[in-house]
Amino acid sequence: MARELQRVVAVVGGGLAGIAAAVRLAAAGDRPVVIETRRKLGGRATSFVDPRSGAVLDNCQHVLMGCCTNLLDLYARLGVADKIEWHRAIHWANPPAEPDRMRPGLLPAPGHYTGSFLRMRFLSMAEKAAIARAMWRLLRIGLHGRTAWRGRVFMEFLEETRQPPRAIERFWSPVVVSACNLPVERVAADCAMQVFQEGFLGSRRAGAMGLAAVPLVELYDPAERLIAETGGEIRTGLSAKSLAYDGARITGVVTDEGFVSASAVVSAVPPDRLDKLVSAPLRGADNRLERLSAIEFSPILGVHLFFEQRVLDLPHLVLTGRDTQWMFNKGIDPEGRQHLHAVISGADDWMALAEDAIVERVMADLHACVPRSIGLAPVAFRAVKEKRATFAALPGVERLRPSAEPGTLGLRGGGVRNLFLAGDWCDTGWPATMEGAVRSGYAAASAFLGAGGPVPDLPVSRFSRLLGLR
Ligand SMILES: Cc1cc2nc3c(=O)[nH]c(=O)nc-3n(C[C@H](O)[C@H](O)[C@H](O)COP(=O)(O)OP(=O)(O)OC[C@H]3O[C@@H](n4cnc5c(N)ncnc54)[C@H](O)[C@@H]3O)c2cc1C
Repeated sequence: MARELQRVVAVVGGGLAGIAAAVRLAAAGDRPVVIETRRKLGGRATSFVDPRSGAVLDNCQHVLMGCCTNLLDLYARLGVADKIEWHRAIHWANPPAEPDRMRPGLLPAPGHYTGSFLRMRFLSMAEKAAIARAMWRLLRIGLHGRTAWRGRVFMEFLEETRQPPRAIERFWSPVVVSACNLPVERVAADCAMQVFQEGFLGSRRAGAMGLAAVPLVELYDPAERLIAETGGEIRTGLSAKSLAYDGARITGVVTDEGFVSASAVVSAVPPDRLDKLVSAPLRGADNRLERLSAIEFSPILGVHLFFEQRVLDLPHLVLTGRDTQWMFNKGIDPEGRQHLHAVISGADDWMALAEDAIVERVMADLHACVPRSIGLAPVAFRAVKEKRATFAALPGVERLRPSAEPGTLGLRGGGVRNLFLAGDWCDTGWPATMEGAVRSGYAAASAFLGAGGPVPDLPVSRFSRLLGLR
């Protein structure tokens, strides 16, 4: 496209939402200018150089699933899809016995986990029957029926389906807190229901677990070339200070190094950051910006541990019934040490702890679930606290999540025509995840282009459909 015909779109924020929007805009022939305050891309899903060891570490292990169709599309566009390792089985600790393994068998969805689920020993037969009963209910409620649960917490659903306390502690809680970053007592029911409906019940492929085989930050390297191909650019180390508004439209972005003039702006920063970029007249003109400060956050803690001995042979382990929910095996590092990574979602209780105390608690959970680790201690560690890891998926949060596109009426509409919103906190129907972020970026780009849209979901199996899921 001739350069003078191209439209410049300023994309504020170079996390997954901003990258996704920019890649789609560039593919359509427009010129995205990504403004990212940090020196690297990836936002909350990235890597850093550990000053103690010089090693490149991810801020936290990031897991994707087979149902993350938009994220996988972005990885394909970036040419990095082959950097994702897939695991079909999920391993659950069952000490002192060997861990249980949940994996799809030969049956089609929604029955694909039945065989391995029946063989798992960390739950009694009565607990498994109760879980099956609740899964049946989730199927029958269907994807749309869950909206009736908005405003309620998931614990109410677990009580209504008479889930035994041990099934909640060992099965429902670890899945829900890992996916939604809030405990079952606080999380919005529809948000938790979505995880089981989309991830467990709809398709055999949906529950496969993907992990990056390279540091997260490397996945974004190709973005620069893709965006530059249409004359766009990524400007890292540049902070947006405000969105310039002339009373009718956005004219560009004021940055700490001058003005970036643009035909349109995609904001791809978290709500608290966007709140700081918006002037009173702009807020008054766009009702998507009115309640940004009402969105609350929930923390996640990631802990890197390095051992001289081999502690874990499995690729990962759910630490059943413990505060540390997951332990990931990151392999052997260049110094020959085993690198494990512990993840604690919904980590409010942990945020005030010093690193030594954190490691002590994580090690107690590891000892309880992996008997061979007893007596061993890490020779090096690094805890990464993310206080504002994700928005808090509390009941009612959906009302605060704005659409990408300015509308004309109502809370979700009414807005400035050339301002588009993206970020995992926007109205994607997904929890705060990499998939949600990419969906939001694609939605913002599509709204600007007037074409495109999200990548379709995985097809729901015929049986799940007949049973009422969709
Ligand atoms: C510890 C942790 C673990 C997680 N685990 C998982 C997981 O296992 N699976 C999963 O799917 N998701 C996980 N997530 C969630 C996932 O990381 C996020 O949902 C996703 O990365 C959000 O992307 P985003 O682009 O919406 O926002 P962000 O990644 O926050 O991107 C916003 C960007 O804007 C930049 N910015 C802010 N202000 C300005 C400004 N004024 N000017 C210029 N730039 C600015 C920021 O530096 C940042 O790069 C996890 C998150 C955390 C923190």
